[in-house]
Amino acid sequence: MRRSPENGDAVSDAPASQRHTPQREAILRVIRRAHGPLTTGEIHKRARRLCPKLGIATVYRNVKLLLETDMIQPVILPDGETRYELAGLSHHHHFHCEVCHRVYDLDGCPVTVRHGMTLPGGFIVSDHELTLYGTCPRCASSEPV
Ligand SMILES: [Zn+2]
Ligand SMILES: [Zn+2]
Repeated sequence: MRRSPENGDAVSDAPASQRHTPQREAILRVIRRAHGPLTTGEIHKRARRLCPKLGIATVYRNVKLLLETDMIQPVILPDGETRYELAGLSHHHHFHCEVCHRVYDLDGCPVTVRHGMTLPGGFIVSDHELTLYGTCPRCASSEPV
């Protein structure tokens, strides 16, 4: 909630976490442009092209702030690495390439069990999660025969 200037003490109403810095802009832009969730290392590598002096500690700090302000959300896959994507994306699934370990967003949902459906045994479905594994198109085309 933004306070009116009459309130006097509203001078610093933007906490540090909401101030825009070029570094944070670069990090957000990288996450927004990615075709899947990114690890902190991947964010660092890509954001450095926009902000050449960007250090990994700054990336960690900004990722934490973006999480706290609900701009991004963590994606935790069984490989144990935490990746990040924009918060509030519509329903989608991930494809984890076993060759390059990149994670891609998939178009569409291959799950045919609809939410609200009752499965044999009386299990009422409210949601699902699915991660597919395999070889991404990039790695498939460069794999040695
Ligand atoms: Zn790959
Ligand atoms: Zn789905």
